[in-house]
Amino acid sequence: MEVVRRATIATASTMRRTIDCLKLSEIALESIIIENFICMQCGTQFAESAQPPPSCPICEDERQFVRHAGQKWTTLKWLATDHHNRLEEEAPRLLGIDTKPEFAIGQRALLLQSPGGNLLWDCISLLDNETIAEVNARGGIRVIAISHPHFYSSMTEWAERFDAQIFLHAADREWIMRKSRRIQFWEGTTLPLWDGLTLINCGGHFEGGTVLHWPAGANGQGALLTGDIITVVQDHRYVSFMRSYPNLIPLGAAAIHRILERIEPFSFEQIYGGWWKANVLADAKAAVARSAERYLRWIAV
Ligand SMILES: [Zn+2]
Ligand SMILES: [Zn+2]
Repeated sequence: MEVVRRATIATASTMRRTIDCLKLSEIALESIIIENFICMQCGTQFAESAQPPPSCPICEDERQFVRHAGQKWTTLKWLATDHHNRLEEEAPRLLGIDTKPEFAIGQRALLLQSPGGNLLWDCISLLDNETIAEVNARGGIRVIAISHPHFYSSMTEWAERFDAQIFLHAADREWIMRKSRRIQFWEGTTLPLWDGLTLINCGGHFEGGTVLHWPAGANGQGALLTGDIITVVQDHRYVSFMRSYPNLIPLGAAAIHRILERIEPFSFEQIYGGWWKANVLADAKAAVARSAERYLRWIAV
């Protein structure tokens, strides 16, 4: 027994020395255990591995960027040691959830509470016990639907904990870093759900870029949840449309017209974007129309 114990200590200290030599971080020490690493720049959780992934394809894509200080990884467990989630109503039956201090791209998810079941629109990286309890107290999650890969974050973790399905547009399947049997791909331009909820493929920022129509939103006048497929800008009377926001890559006229065509059959008074208070709260359909007209005018100059 003593021999076994000594051998264990020797192995552990040898391993620690080796790791010291490699100058790996505390997080890498953790990686002796298989982990689902999370990219600190975009917040995406990856498939299990013993070491952090060599790179993050989402950050290396032209629409994002690698941290200026270099690629860095964390895990859900590490993230929970100095971050927590804030839950706050964005609107009646629409609960915003984000992480404090701000993490990754600083987005907020939205828990849409509907009679036929709750839908989590977009997602964030951190999921802790307090959040699970708060969401369960509001009826849990039936389905997670996500606008585009910048919000995939820890979607599989959330789906597992809430026994939920994930609906993603098939055109973006290459950007899934942690595969799951819970992910269901949909194709085409719309996917009707329950209680009149509809996923609409708009493309643009990402080929599979999706918005959600919520007919019961805005007191029955309808609302769109858009992430940054249709982005509410600082002037809340307007929205915008970009291939990349951090790198300022615009979209062409055909992409703008496609977005307009896809949302045309739906009526909505409000738009809820991907960040806190980034919302158009009145006459939102007209706001999209005048924003598109302005955008098309300026890219034609
Ligand atoms: Zn990343
Ligand atoms: Zn994005």
